Amino acid sequence: MHIDARQLNNNTLIEGDLCIIGAGAAGISMALEWIHTSHKVILLEGGGFDYDEKVQQLYKGTSSGQKFPDFTSSRLHYFGGTTGHWAGFCSPFDELDFEERDWVPYSGWPLKKKDLDPFYDRAHKTIQLGPYNYDLKFWQKKLPYMYPFPLNEKVIRTKIWQYNQARYGNIYKETILNAKNIHLYTYANAVDIQTNDNVSQIEQVIVKNYSGKTHTVKAKHFILACGAIQNTRLLLASNSKAKAGLGNDNDLVGRYFMEHIELNVAELNMIKPFATNLYNFEMGVTKVSGELGITHEAQKQEKILNGTSSVNLLPETVDNQLRLDRWKHYEETESYIKDMTDLWEEADTQAKFGMGAIGKKFHLNIRMEQSPNPNSRVSLGTEKDGLGVPKAHMNWDLTFLDKRSIRTIYYLIGREMGASGLGRLKLREEFRDANDPTFPEDTHGGNHHIGTTRMDADPKKGVVDINCQVHGINNLYVAGSACFPTAGGPNPTLTIVALSIRLSDFIKEKMKW
Ligand SMILES: Cc1cc2nc3c(=O)[nH]c(=O)nc-3n(C[C@H](O)[C@H](O)[C@H](O)COP(=O)(O)OP(=O)(O)OC[C@H]3O[C@@H](n4cnc5c(N)ncnc54)[C@H](O)[C@@H]3O)c2cc1C
Repeated sequence: MHIDARQLNNNTLIEGDLCIIGAGAAGISMALEWIHTSHKVILLEGGGFDYDEKVQQLYKGTSSGQKFPDFTSSRLHYFGGTTGHWAGFCSPFDELDFEERDWVPYSGWPLKKKDLDPFYDRAHKTIQLGPYNYDLKFWQKKLPYMYPFPLNEKVIRTKIWQYNQARYGNIYKETILNAKNIHLYTYANAVDIQTNDNVSQIEQVIVKNYSGKTHTVKAKHFILACGAIQNTRLLLASNSKAKAGLGNDNDLVGRYFMEHIELNVAELNMIKPFATNLYNFEMGVTKVSGELGITHEAQKQEKILNGTSSVNLLPETVDNQLRLDRWKHYEETESYIKDMTDLWEEADTQAKFGMGAIGKKFHLNIRMEQSPNPNSRVSLGTEKDGLGVPKAHMNWDLTFLDKRSIRTIYYLIGREMGASGLGRLKLREEFRDANDPTFPEDTHGGNHHIGTTRMDADPKKGVVDINCQVHGINNLYVAGSACFPTAGGPNPTLTIVALSIRLSDFIKEKMKW
């Protein structure tokens, strides 16, 4: 069911059992879990069904520290959220991502990978990915052209990715609109979360829009699912009863902001050309591919962060003759296409998948977790947005561990490439000095906003508990990567969706108490 909050009478009271604030990957994944239940779900979305420049500008903020992109370019403020332009790279976190690592300050989740496995499996269905399996051998049986570089497996591993640029705003619009118990309010921007006097219970949320309408939402449970920066803004700005903001008794809201650091770091020159099917990625076509990763043993030994390197062929070095020779093995190709067809029934596009170019020269791009750092922080700025909410200020702060880890990852890849006689690696100038903590100007993140309401059983160390409930507030939860204590090696959305499904299960159970 859909209601445009601009069309309601001013000061309408909206009531339900559950109120989900934000209809992006996290919010919609949660709402889907409640369809056909006896509960009335209010899904509040600040924007409409399409891009709206005026609403998008509500994301505007300021930044200091390491250069950070304009907030309006890295997120989308309408139904479907940032999945409207995400790249769809999905992979579960590794076991090590959840562990406390003595060389990574503030690392360690109160959860283990095995706790999330059943939810990752369910998240696969929501994001419409292939089977929940990330083992190279499993995929090699289906996709026989996927050869990794023959490198020392004690040091270098293959990290498998699956892809689906699932645009939630398209694929789930009808489902949400047709669900009788899901009441989607568009142009319903949450601007204030109001509590009882001792700040133990949310009583209502105030929503506004540019039509000058203000409405009140009452529910038994409230879930913040607006993304890590926006969640922080709302918690800090909702300060009528808690002066430092909600969940912020220990000055933690907004801290430990993390990204995945993405940057071109090295060039790989192969001695012989190599078929790149495993590493090949073509947006909208590739369903599975691999990246170079560092084994957990080597990470422990070198005391580095978790990250992977993409292997991107430089087009001018493609060897077309070799590619043609390979395609002469038509029978093999045909069976390969059949395998892919069985998997996703997309023969035409999947046919292309077998055509990974063969070449000699590659660019290597890092994708690495940023270490948790309390000074990397979102806070409230001095200006207000068009609906009167203080804008966000970002201080993106990278550490020496971040820099050293990138350098070491490429040192290890280069060493093993040389040792196996495959090729030589040329490290970018800015990464050659082992003592230099600075990052190049063009350093950027993957547009993955993580941390800010980190999960910890101890309220002195985290904003939310193991169930994503805000410490001390009975009926307020956070859905999304804001809850991650560490950023993990892989991109966040699969884990966001898994955690959102888990949170839904938790609230359903809690409603029976
Ligand atoms: C270019 C790009 C590429 C990406 N590629 C990948 C990738 O390959 N793999 C990956 O894992 N991740 C990727 N991401 C990140 C991914 O898009 C996010 O992790 C994911 O969308 C986060 O989901 P979310 O629901 O937490 O936030 P969002 O998807 O941003 O949704 C938040 C929702 O809340 C709404 N909202 C905000 N404020 C309010 C308010 N006050 N009141 C009501 N509603 C509000 C917004 O309109 C929006 O609909 C990419 C991001 C970008 C920008």
